[in-house]
Formats: sequence, structure tokens, C-alpha cells
Amino acid sequence: MAAAQPWTANTTHFIAGTWTPATTGRTYPNRSPWSGHILGHAAAGDAEDTERAITAAHHAFPTWSRTRPAERQRVFLNAADLLEQRATHVLAALAAETGCGHHFGTVQLDFAVKLLRQAANLAYHPAGELLPSDTDGTQAMAVRKPVGVVAAIAPWNASLTLSGRAITGPLALGNTVVLKPSEEAPYTGGTLWAEILHQAGLPAGALNVITHAPGEAGAVGDTLLASPLVKRLNFTGSTPTGRRLAEKAGRHLKRVVLQLSGQNPLIVAADADLTHAVDAAVYGAFIHQGQVCMCARRIYVERPLADAFTERFAARAARLPTGDPADPATVIGPVINEWALALLDRRVKEAVGLGARVLAGGEPAPPCYPATVLTDVPDEAEIAQSETFGAVVVVETVDSAEEAVARANHTDLGLAASIITGDSRRGLRLAATLEAGIVHINDQPVNDEPQMPFGGVKDSGWGRFGLGFAAEEFCETQWVTVRDEPRTYPF
Ligand code: ADP
Repeated sequence: MAAAQPWTANTTHFIAGTWTPATTGRTYPNRSPWSGHILGHAAAGDAEDTERAITAAHHAFPTWSRTRPAERQRVFLNAADLLEQRATHVLAALAAETGCGHHFGTVQLDFAVKLLRQAANLAYHPAGELLPSDTDGTQAMAVRKPVGVVAAIAPWNASLTLSGRAITGPLALGNTVVLKPSEEAPYTGGTLWAEILHQAGLPAGALNVITHAPGEAGAVGDTLLASPLVKRLNFTGSTPTGRRLAEKAGRHLKRVVLQLSGQNPLIVAADADLTHAVDAAVYGAFIHQGQVCMCARRIYVERPLADAFTERFAARAARLPTGDPADPATVIGPVINEWALALLDRRVKEAVGLGARVLAGGEPAPPCYPATVLTDVPDEAEIAQSETFGAVVVVETVDSAEEAVARANHTDLGLAASIITGDSRRGLRLAATLEAGIVHINDQPVNDEPQMPFGGVKDSGWGRFGLGFAAEEFCETQWVTVRDEPRTYPF
């Protein structure tokens, strides 16, 4: 049997419905995190390219925003079918470009297809409300209107779904979009979406994609933020980058939706089913080699279950198959790049230097970082303080779940959390005290569905994705009144 062809693609910008190289003609190599091979070359865009994309989106807005609901619905339903038909190709591309294994690839694909089908429905959602008025003869309305051009900046780690949700809600509500995928995922986070939606019938200019070389995101982001034609920006990525963007957005009084880092706790109560707790923790900590913003980073176990849990959990972690993301048996694939691998290594070594104990893993196996379990991590260690994007998790024993909640809340981040307990009512009571945008009881923290209000509190971000909630973020509400007869004024 012939060996499968390695996945390859050269990519350009997509502006006004046309595949367009960078104005300067520059490209950069898109490398596989597993093999290091060049998969293709991507356009290395700049501020000028970004301005062209914004102009295209601005010109497309009047037509797309007035497109009949049936037509908008048809585009998203077509796109869902096209994406499904290309499943094998998409999974291969995700593995090659981002080191995404088969399981997380199918999770992304499933989400993206559902997202498009739900977006098709959004075309028929009510566009406002009638409001009671105390002014006789006045009919009042709150009318929801698309804002115009929405900018979207997405990360590489779940490139298909995170770029998808960054553009689909805004488009379905009648906005036009400029998408800037991560430099690590120009195809699966950018080009692929343009291909599918264009083929599905989205008119030229409604979606534009700009890519850029590593280290050159600033010029694209700054242009998007400074343009008066861009009315909103949504960003998914790290808290430090999100904070910089929000500071700049403030200067331009531009509203932003921010989905940022997580330092997500998983709390195991003493009455938990041990097997379920271990299964959930292994999945929640190590899915996509720990490179999901919702991954469990800290596991707090009530003392009576702590030894048994920790022993079984560390043993399972140590056995997780590590290697080629194209092999369906692999659980721990490559880290996205050598800088991320070096950061993981440095943070684990720093924690160990401060007294942490390694219960599994703890040494890099380039380009992978094997599943690693630490305990006795002091609060001052970087790994205890901020999100560490990789297959490293901290397990600690607590005297009570309430203590776990207090420790979980003792961080600036508040994205997702989960609690495993035999008493789901107690779980609900604990959930109410957790400072997190998302809490799952008797599950691990990595979950998403297109219709759910996805987002964090504290430094994990502002605003919510989720199609039913996107209208809040990507529309303006206009108060309109109408009278059929003259009104009497006092002077
Ligand atoms: P990650 O660790 O996931 O790469 P980042 O926050 O660095 O997190 O990246 C998320 C997205 O933000 C990527 O698309 C990246 O290119 C983009 N980005 C990084 N720096 C900037 C910047 N200064 N302006 C705009 N976008 C940026």
C-alpha cells in the first residue's frame, strides 16, 4: 500500500473574495510541530494588507447585512456539509499544522459543524422587541442591528473551532469580518474557513483573512484596533496579549470580547467515585497535550481520597502514549513549538527547585512534553501562579472541598472549574462560590458547545461567545419609537 501523502498547503490572504499574496510579496514557512518539515508558505501580511481587508469588509457590509435570512441560512448549512465532507482532509491538516491528535481533531470538527448549523438558525432569530411606553400614541422598539466590520484574532491551539466561533456568530448576525489566525495555524485557523464559506456561497468581502509571520502580529492587531471602520474586536489567546490589546482598544474606545488564559481547578471530594475521578482528571488535564485553555491545571483532592487518587492518577499519566499526532493511538502529541517546550521545561524545573515533587513525567522528549504530575508545588512557583500551556498538572491534598475552593479562587484567573462529588447538590453549592465563568459538576473542565455562554471572569476575559449570547457582543441595540399622530408639547 502506498504511504499516505504528507499534508501540504501554501496559503495567501483572502481579501474581497480573492486569494491575494502579501503586498510586499513576503511569505514565511509554516512548519509541522511534529516533524519540523515545512508544510507550505503563508503570506506574511502587514498593516497595508490589513487596511485592504478592512476596506473589503466595509464595502461588503451593506449587502451582507441585508441579505435575506433564507440566503444566510443556506450559506451556513452548505458550509456545514462541506466541512463534514472534508473531514479526513481537515483532521490531517490539524495534525500536520498544529500537532492535534485524532480525538481532539474530531472534537474540533464536531463543534465546527454544529456551530455552522446553529448559525444557520440565527438568521431567523427575532431582531428586537416591542417595549411598553408611557407616552400615549408612541410605539417603542429595541432593534438589534449588526455593527459593521468585526475583527477576530484567534490562537493556534484549537485553530478550527476558535477561529470558527470568532467569525461565525458575527457573520450570522449580519456583520462582516477580518480574521487574523495565529501564525502557527494559517491554514486550519484561516484559509480553511475562507475556502469553506466562500464555496458555500458567502459573498466576496464578507470574510477576509490576513496572515502574518511570527513576531509580526502587532502591526495587524494595531491596524485592526485603530481603524474607525472596525467596530468590535474579539480575541482568544493569552492574558498578557489580551491585556495589551484591551489597553489599546481603550484608547480607541473600541469594544472587545476577550477569551483569555485559565488556571483551572478540578476538585475531587472524598465521596467521589474514584475511578470516575481518575478518568475525568486524566482526560481534563491531558487532552490535546494540555494545550486547551480549559484544561485542568490544579487538582485538589480531599484528604481521605488523596493517596489513592494521586497514586492511580500519576500511574495513568505515566502510561499515556506519546508521539506522532497522526497515529490515532497517540494521546500526547508534540508541543506547538520549541519555545513552548522550553517554557514547560523551565517552569517544571523551577517548581522542582523550589521543592515540588515529580510524580510522573518531568523531562521533555522533544518535540513532546510527556504527561507530568507535580505535587507540593509552592505558591511562588510560576506554575502555581500563571497558565502553563502543556501536559503539566499539579495535584494537592486539601482538608475540605471548601478549602479547595478558597485555594482555587486565590488566583487572578477564572475561566473553567470542575467538581467531582457523590453529592451533586453539594457540588452546586460549591459551584456558587467558585470564581469561574464555567463550572462543571461531576465532569472535568474541558467542554464546549456552540450555544453555551463560554467565557471567563477576572483576568480570564470579558464577554461571552455562544451563539445565543453573541448578539450581546456583536450587535448594537437601537431604541426606535414611532407615532402615527402628532403629539402635544407643553411649549
Ligand atoms: P498563544 O500562547 O496561544 O500563542 P497569544 O496570546 O500569544 O497566545 O496568541 C493568540 C493570538 O494573538 C495569535 O493569533 C497571535 O498571533 C495574536 N497576537 C500575539 N501578539 C499580538 C499583538 N501584539 N497584537 C495582536 N495580536 C497578537
